[in-house]
Amino acid sequence: MSTKVIRSMSDFSRFRVDIDVRCYCGHKNTLPYWPVLCRFIDKGWPKNLHSALDHFRCTKCGSCAQWIGPLPR
Ligand SMILES: [Zn+2]
Repeated sequence: MSTKVIRSMSDFSRFRVDIDVRCYCGHKNTLPYWPVLCRFIDKGWPKNLHSALDHFRCTKCGSCAQWIGPLPR
């Protein structure tokens, strides 16, 4: 088990871990960190985790993410 603490979207690329996204409806998705980070940079979105939640949309119910975190390897 690692002690990596993810506080911003940049940390996913710093630690080279993919992003585990969970929705309120129970749907889960895994996203590669690099294209996601590029999108945040392109759009100029704030990269802290709390506001990042709003930028993930569930492909099932359309809600924003409930939780995002590092995918355990
Ligand atoms: Zn959902």
